[in-house]
Amino acid sequence: MIRDRRIPVPRFLVDLSPLKKDLSYVKIENGVVRIGALTTLWEISRSTLHRDIRYAGFTDVFKKFGTMAIRFNATIGGNIASATQYSDYITLLLVYDARLRLESASGVREVSLEEFLVDKRTTIIKPNELITEISFREPPSGTSSAFIKFDRRELIIAGIVTGAFYLTKEGERVKDVRIAFDMVKERRIPGRARMTEECVIGKTLSESVLREAESCLEREMKRISDWWTSDEYRLDMSKTSLRRGLLLAEKRISSGVI
Ligand SMILES: Cc1cc2nc3c(=O)[nH]c(=O)nc-3n(C[C@H](O)[C@H](O)[C@H](O)COP(=O)(O)OP(=O)(O)OC[C@H]3O[C@@H](n4cnc5c(N)ncnc54)[C@H](O)[C@@H]3O)c2cc1C
Repeated sequence: MIRDRRIPVPRFLVDLSPLKKDLSYVKIENGVVRIGALTTLWEISRSTLHRDIRYAGFTDVFKKFGTMAIRFNATIGGNIASATQYSDYITLLLVYDARLRLESASGVREVSLEEFLVDKRTTIIKPNELITEISFREPPSGTSSAFIKFDRRELIIAGIVTGAFYLTKEGERVKDVRIAFDMVKERRIPGRARMTEECVIGKTLSESVLREAESCLEREMKRISDWWTSDEYRLDMSKTSLRRGLLLAEKRISSGVI
């Protein structure tokens, strides 16, 4: 990026590793899941987020994330701060309604992940701030999630389409549903498909409801064409992801198996 002059040459490089011992954790306190921003993806994979069905999407993201070497070193805070539509933890954390703690020498503030993101590589973070923690409410029982990433191969992929799906069931009914994609509207950043969520909430995931959800997504989503693929193909794959993601989350809730 620097070599191609797509970002300016930084005047200083700051090594965050001395903060590692304080900002590397996954804990659940008073119904809130807290992840330290310097927690690596590998450390997350050793935590309860990869064992509890309510967080199943974390396992999906990890399995398709870059290479093992990257998973050992990349931090969840770095993935979020990168702020691209290919930042997989952003897409997933949007469906958990995550919040970020931003800290600087002048104080601490908390913002939602959604308001943090402005556009590709543009966020509301100030030059002197760090993301120190990611948090979200512990989901109720009867909840699970799924993350789907489509590409022409399985690994080291950016994803032609990525989607995250969060579902809470009450009996046969969908009590809560949250859906995010790598891109929903014009902004090249992950976002929630709220209109599609409205088409699913309170209903049973029958074939007709899934079809209705697909047509809601078609009305809500604006896909783009680029050298990778066409907007039409992206939209088709988004609808397929939606269907598969919702059904996978539902299956996980009923089977208890990730
Ligand atoms: C081959 C390859 C494959 C990849 N595959 C994937 C993939 O499948 N999915 C995916 O999502 N990404 C992928 N990536 C992107 C990359 O691995 C991630 O974005 C990574 O998580 C960055 O984390 P890091 O800790 O290394 O951050 P860094 O690279 O060190 O930092 C990234 C940016 O975030 C800033 N930053 C870092 N930590 C903080 C903080 N705590 N507070 C504020 N700013 C901060 C840095 O200043 C920098 O601007 C891939 C990258 C490569 C090279």
